[in-house]
Amino acid sequence: MSNTRRKQVRPVVEHEDGTTSKTPTRDGRPLLNFRAPRVTQPPRHFADMSMEERQEAVRELGLPAFRAKQLSNHYFQRNITDPALMTDIPADKRDALAEAFFPPLLTEVHRLKTKNGDTIKFLWRLFDGALVESVLMRYRNRITLCVSSQCGCGMNCPFCATGQQGLTRNMSTAEIVEQVVRANQVIAAGELAPTAEPDINMLGEQAAAVGDESGETDAGADTGNDSAGAKPSGTQTPAGEERVTNIVFMGMGEPLANYKRVMNAIRRFTDAAPHGLGMSPRRITVSTVGLVPGIRKLMNEDIPVTFALSLHAPDDGLRNEMIPVNTRWNADEAIDAAYDYYRTTGRRVSIEYALIKDMNDHAWRADLLAKKLNARGRGWVHVNPIPLNPTPGSVWTASEPKVAQEFVDRLVAAGVPTTIRDTRGQDIDGACGQLAATGED
Ligand code: SAH
Repeated sequence: MSNTRRKQVRPVVEHEDGTTSKTPTRDGRPLLNFRAPRVTQPPRHFADMSMEERQEAVRELGLPAFRAKQLSNHYFQRNITDPALMTDIPADKRDALAEAFFPPLLTEVHRLKTKNGDTIKFLWRLFDGALVESVLMRYRNRITLCVSSQCGCGMNCPFCATGQQGLTRNMSTAEIVEQVVRANQVIAAGELAPTAEPDINMLGEQAAAVGDESGETDAGADTGNDSAGAKPSGTQTPAGEERVTNIVFMGMGEPLANYKRVMNAIRRFTDAAPHGLGMSPRRITVSTVGLVPGIRKLMNEDIPVTFALSLHAPDDGLRNEMIPVNTRWNADEAIDAAYDYYRTTGRRVSIEYALIKDMNDHAWRADLLAKKLNARGRGWVHVNPIPLNPTPGSVWTASEPKVAQEFVDRLVAAGVPTTIRDTRGQDIDGACGQLAATGED
């Protein structure tokens, strides 16, 4: 079934003055904001510091450097942020340590749980009142946390709820890290349901999990040691405790627009215990709208994280409207950078594609996407379409299942591995693109 003559809906963007235009531009320029306003950052926190900086800071408090290692063990391995509970630290020093190292950064405003309890969305208030969200999801073999990297977002993608808010400020390294430590506390307290329902996608198949680097479904990635009645495999520390196993920078914000702090957070995640969380870089996914210089910087870091590009359209005509930053670095430049990421790191990359009815889901676009990806090579990329999640006030809807099926079939027929992703958390507005942190839900 070829549907080249199917109708073409384009994004219509409403400006602040109430007028609308078909392209997200004002005075002919895209409404993009790369630089966060100069605002005060939160007080320095333990998680902002490298091990050397922690040792230095501990010495300044009149303690020997080895205390930094003990503190790291408490914070990163045991999720303890209250020095009163750190019984191997001299009691008369604990208050000073609490004040110097552990200022409260994230205040929980509320949390929403899906009916079956395998997904929790957290709303956090930061020190300056800014609100951000993170989403914790249990799958069969992993526990994934979707973290925010900025308060709001400056990329202005019209189909994304966060994009409509504008950018308030960058989050600090510790604010990013704390989302994970707090989630680990919640898991340790048994507040995330112990088993996950299988995710069935809109095509009635096992869906790809968020942050699944290879695009394998959980079933496909099953290690086979998941005996009946046992806890899901792959989510436990050697000590038998469960914690976040995968982190995806797919919450609020554009991670590559807050490069330094995001990279520092990644160091805390991947540094070996007790210096950091000791996570594998492949279990950390950085998703970007396509900031090409940032992608090139990331591929040359010593930490080969999993990389995802939000493409959403293979043709510049449409992508300019859906992803305003495309007017700066176009689809081909973004795909080239993704391909170079693969060549440099050896890590297969993901292409994200939100399927929007009559906007970007045409069969010819699937063919064009396949052509562009295959022109660079084979086996380097995996396409992860996701049916659009509804956002407030948006007129757009997800593609019809049969249209999505044809989109996938065409990519697969062209030899491009493609798996529709689940839309976990939709009922709590916790799915991709639905994070608005209004505090109203
Ligand atoms: N700024 C980064 C990461 C945040 S969003 C980026 O753009 O990649 C994570 C993913 O959700 C991106 O692929 C984004 O395009 C997608 N997304 C945004 N709004 C969505 C929506 N309403 N439905 C489905 N996916 C959406």
